[in-house]
Amino acid sequence: MDRTKVKYALWTNDVEDHSIWFNALRYETGELVLREGMPILLDIYKRFGIKSTFYFTGYMAEHFPEVVRMIVADGHEVASHGYSHEVDQAFDVLPYALQVEHLRKSKQLLEDISGQQVISFRAPALRVNADTPRALAETGYKIDSSIASQRFDMFLSFGGLKKLKWLTAPRLPYFTDPGNLFRKGKGPIVEVPLTALLFPYVGTTMRVFPWLTKLQRSILHAENNMNHKPVVFDIHPNEFLNEENGERKIERRTKNPITYLLADVLRGKLKVKNLGKAAIPLYENEIAYYQKRGYHFTTVKQYCIENGWLPENMS
Ligand SMILES: [Zn+2]
Repeated sequence: MDRTKVKYALWTNDVEDHSIWFNALRYETGELVLREGMPILLDIYKRFGIKSTFYFTGYMAEHFPEVVRMIVADGHEVASHGYSHEVDQAFDVLPYALQVEHLRKSKQLLEDISGQQVISFRAPALRVNADTPRALAETGYKIDSSIASQRFDMFLSFGGLKKLKWLTAPRLPYFTDPGNLFRKGKGPIVEVPLTALLFPYVGTTMRVFPWLTKLQRSILHAENNMNHKPVVFDIHPNEFLNEENGERKIERRTKNPITYLLADVLRGKLKVKNLGKAAIPLYENEIAYYQKRGYHFTTVKQYCIENGWLPENMS
């Protein structure tokens, strides 16, 4: 098969204990992800017959090992989403030694539970710094997927200003600079960028602005016809949960009033749209669009092997 002609759809999932409804990390949400969110996602993938990559936080693996085990039988890829999703433990604020520790700990946990070799990483909240490529190489990772090329967040997410580097990051997969994941270079880490067109191409956009996602996908399909850029979508099993009961309080995670208003309050209000079961048909439409057009759905790892970024014996 001529790989350069294959249209790739890389469907990715970030598995964490974050509650969208409460805008906070909660043990109870982790439990719901295991019992409700993951079964819904896995059922969708089974019905469409597709394989995807799951990025788990070490916290989830440690507290709910079954959440990792349940994807293995279906042939999905087990990948790391760091150890913790706490805002103050993000990789752009962690010193090098702690990045190494978090990477090592989550890799070990995930490998012990799944029996798979874990080589793919996505940073919690996509926050990375100049130490991250070195920390990844040091701990045996091969692929990063934390860079959202041409995504523009400004104050809408944490670390927003640093994420301006996304605007100039390459669109197609690349080997990164050893000191900069945002740039091409001679480092050992392959970057498979998340797809974005100013707005992120993710579950949140799909739920909150379905018309925008519809527009995005027709442009992305046209782009793929020109340059074979893999379409990389990102969703969370917690988007299929509806925790709407009891009083809702938006936790304040920052002292900056603008960031509080935009990243916590506004975002918190918007993000609950089409949460829970309502997200299922939207997601199915998204998958069906590419399946109808002959896309090959596979894992990030398998994509890298099939395209010569990694040796065959990695599988
Ligand atoms: Zn995450």
